Amino acid sequence: MGADARVSGLGAGRGAAGPRMSSRAPRPPLQPLLFLLVLLAAPGARAAGYEMCPKAQPNMLNVHLVAHTHDDVGWLKTVDQYFYGIKNDIQHAGVQYILDSVVSALLAEPTRRFVYVEMAFFARWWHQQTNATQAIVRDLVRQGRLEFANGGWVMNDEATTHYGAIVDQMTLGLRFLEDTFGADGRPRVAWHIDPFGHSREQASLFAQMGFDGLFFGRLDYQDKKVREEMLEMEHVWRASASLRPPAADLFTGVLPNGYNPPEDMCWDSLCSDKPVVDDAGSPEYNADQVVEYFLHQAAVQSQHYRTNHIVMTMGSDFQYQNANMWFKNLDKLIRLVNAQQAKGSRVHVLYSTPACYLWQLHKANLAWSVKEDDFFPYADEAHAFWTGYFSSRPALKRYERRSYNFLQVCSQLEALAGPAANEGPYGSGDSAPLGEAMAVLQHHDAVSGTSRQQVADDYARQLAAGWGPCEVLLSNALARLSGSKETFTFCRELNVSVCALTQTAKRFEVIIYNPLGRKTDWMVRLPVTKGAFLVKDPNGKSVPSEVVTVPSSDIQGPPPELLFSASVPALGFSIYSVARVPDWTPQFHPLSPTPLKPKAHLLTIRNKHIRAAFDPNTGLLVELENLDQKLVLPVEQAFYWYNASIGNQYSSQASGAYIFRPDQQKPLPVRHWATTRLVKTSLVQEVHQNFSAWCSQVVRLYPGQRHLELEWTVGPIPVGEGWGKEIVSRFDTPLETGGRFYTDSNGREILERRRDYRPTWDLNQTEPVAGNYYPVNTRIYITDGKVQLTVLTDRSQGGSSLRDGSLELMVHRRLLRDDNRGVGEPLAEAGADGEGLWVRGRHLVLLDKAEAAAAGHRLQAEREVLAPQVVLAVGGGTPYRRGAAPRKQFSALRRELPPSVHLLTLARWDSRTLLLRLEHQFALGEDSGRNLSSPVTLDLRDLFSAFTITQLRETTLAANQPRKAASRLQWNTNTGPVPQTAPPALDPIAVTLRPMEIRTFLASVQWKEDGGTNPS
Ligand SMILES: [Zn+2]
Repeated sequence: MGADARVSGLGAGRGAAGPRMSSRAPRPPLQPLLFLLVLLAAPGARAAGYEMCPKAQPNMLNVHLVAHTHDDVGWLKTVDQYFYGIKNDIQHAGVQYILDSVVSALLAEPTRRFVYVEMAFFARWWHQQTNATQAIVRDLVRQGRLEFANGGWVMNDEATTHYGAIVDQMTLGLRFLEDTFGADGRPRVAWHIDPFGHSREQASLFAQMGFDGLFFGRLDYQDKKVREEMLEMEHVWRASASLRPPAADLFTGVLPNGYNPPEDMCWDSLCSDKPVVDDAGSPEYNADQVVEYFLHQAAVQSQHYRTNHIVMTMGSDFQYQNANMWFKNLDKLIRLVNAQQAKGSRVHVLYSTPACYLWQLHKANLAWSVKEDDFFPYADEAHAFWTGYFSSRPALKRYERRSYNFLQVCSQLEALAGPAANEGPYGSGDSAPLGEAMAVLQHHDAVSGTSRQQVADDYARQLAAGWGPCEVLLSNALARLSGSKETFTFCRELNVSVCALTQTAKRFEVIIYNPLGRKTDWMVRLPVTKGAFLVKDPNGKSVPSEVVTVPSSDIQGPPPELLFSASVPALGFSIYSVARVPDWTPQFHPLSPTPLKPKAHLLTIRNKHIRAAFDPNTGLLVELENLDQKLVLPVEQAFYWYNASIGNQYSSQASGAYIFRPDQQKPLPVRHWATTRLVKTSLVQEVHQNFSAWCSQVVRLYPGQRHLELEWTVGPIPVGEGWGKEIVSRFDTPLETGGRFYTDSNGREILERRRDYRPTWDLNQTEPVAGNYYPVNTRIYITDGKVQLTVLTDRSQGGSSLRDGSLELMVHRRLLRDDNRGVGEPLAEAGADGEGLWVRGRHLVLLDKAEAAAAGHRLQAEREVLAPQVVLAVGGGTPYRRGAAPRKQFSALRRELPPSVHLLTLARWDSRTLLLRLEHQFALGEDSGRNLSSPVTLDLRDLFSAFTITQLRETTLAANQPRKAASRLQWNTNTGPVPQTAPPALDPIAVTLRPMEIRTFLASVQWKEDGGTNPS
């Protein structure tokens, strides 16, 4: 296809198909004006990627058979076990045999087609093939007989994934296809047939990646019924409230039967349905029956769809290991059904693909309905809401989010230090292994928490293995950029206050790398042994520090921690030195723990911006004050647990890895009160709350911090009495919220939620708790229109507002029953010691005037997702280059990015090219206070000090095609036409970002000899 292929526009070329008039179903009439526009904008002749589609019959019902396999990148078995077909006693599945078998079957009969999705498997298989097989497969791809759909490394989850990680994993998969097959292999259709509910942001990202349409399998059973009746199984999803249509418009189709074949028509080696027997002499002859049954199925299905094309997914999980079985029967089915046309049948059945089916829908030229909300939560029947997995495996969810942070640091330093990052004094460093592991983690049974335990362990193993080459890379890069070869140390267990170097050395250096485009201040906390320390900043000036010991009844209590505040420039680092000093330095207050007895007055902690008050009798947080905005709000926070259902008289449904089903609507408090201890020093104020042996929390304020930090520790959840438990942290306020609350979509745009309500159908609510849970990736808030209470999370969790003024987040769950959705194991994480997993995490609470809230939560959420990376060194290293002076502070930016701009990606693309993504991180109209929702224009020419950009090309979001050459099918909607605008011309001097816009660039660069200039 030509790179400049354009689909729409006046005079777009030949062959414009008129609107279809022959479909069987009633449909809204086209308005005359719209009708004219439809004709003018009709699909052009050079429809990129659709040239190889099979011929359909214009006056018949066309049944598109899509032969496919759904290959989970880990679920009951690990990725490697699935690929090689190991442990077939758990599940009979071997992806290598599927691909071998499909290629042979496609070669045997040229009309056959197949669609493949998961690049994590395909790329591995490809690299094991001979040149001859690769040549054959290239031919099959060029001829459209083997089509790739989606093309991500995995088919990612949509509820528990962060948009940055989704973009990364799609980029990895689509790049493999582009490098291997060029435009022939470029998927036109997104294919999310299994994820358990669908996010609006995912659709927006797909649109921005250039996909023409999306098909999926799972939606709420009530929603599906309504859509079938209203003929809205296929529609246009307007997936952004900020991006101008059609930038985030995505044609979206709901598949008729999940992703499975019609009942009794599964002809895989894993199924036992009867094959087609067309030998009239056989006593098993069934050809007539099969044809009749198939025609009936097609007729029924077509009643729910608007065109004279319908699709049937002929395949399922790990099918086609013996592809011949499927194809042989499908060959016969097609021949037998189409033979009926001679007797007057108006049904035409054909081998097709998702793209070829989509192309026919587009040619139908209908005006489609528009959807603006999302497909959460998903219930497959009454009492079965798939809202448990929003929180399942909270430790893995945090490890994944933390690894996203580390991967961005690793990728940035690989880009900033150039080739010296990959080969240097510390060996070979590489971001790719962590990049691949992170891509695998996005799979809809990975970060979602719905795999078996042995598979979850393997996901964690993959992440840990990916960290190693990144640590080498960081060492190489930091040595080059700092000019000093140090003995770098990475303390991976700082989250549990363990670090051998800082707990033993008399002196050491702390390198703090800031991945944000703006300078940041960060409180460094390092485990040490008792004593005093002198901390010096990059200029050799001593800075306030202190050692805090938190008293504990436990002999193995937490070690003392050294605290100091570090200031780090944009996209750069600061190096602080720490030395143990012999004498106690009294100017900084040591710990003053105050075990609290009931007192008459409130206990408070405060800084310049925030005051938090606690009830002296219960020890609970009861009031929050924003001192800058003069806001006071009663906020009571405590922990509660739901008793996990094991089934009851209404339904046998149990709570499990996927499904959340509490036994009762009202959760029980872990305890009505907490014992508390107060720690007040000059650098931190903390209230330590102990609710029970397995539930505690530290409420924390640092100087200058505009939010209250709640660090909770939950587990091992006791289940000895035989009750599974699901633990929530709940905030109760008097805010009048009218049943409404707000949650983010994959960490980006915000969606309004209403209790017991769905925007597009009349909900029959069967689960008043679980049916009101929504995915929270980074934030949830409630507001009365004047005041907003926002809680930021450090991982994905389920959240809700079950009463006005109330907000809750599920932090941990431990269950004793399986929920009967296939995983076959109760979610009962035993932890390393087998006693039950304990989990630690943080909630950041912000109280703001509504109009000022976005500025607060957007910028703080950015700091959480891309937190500074702490690297330690013994000190006293040798010069990196002879004569080079060591550099204690560095910024790769010549000027900071404005607050509305987020540096989403800075990564190496090839030996001379970097991948750069800049994002406007505010939504349209969201920030009325500081004007952060306005478009912003950047000059990219000399923005970076570490390298010079010699050439800049803009691409689509996944960087697999030039933006100016990319074209998408445009769809007509029943809300009227939208103006088509050409992509903005690229001018590196003035790159404008509009609210929520991401722009993606490939930049050819030359690295500076000295690694860049010193900003300070
Ligand atoms: Zn799946």
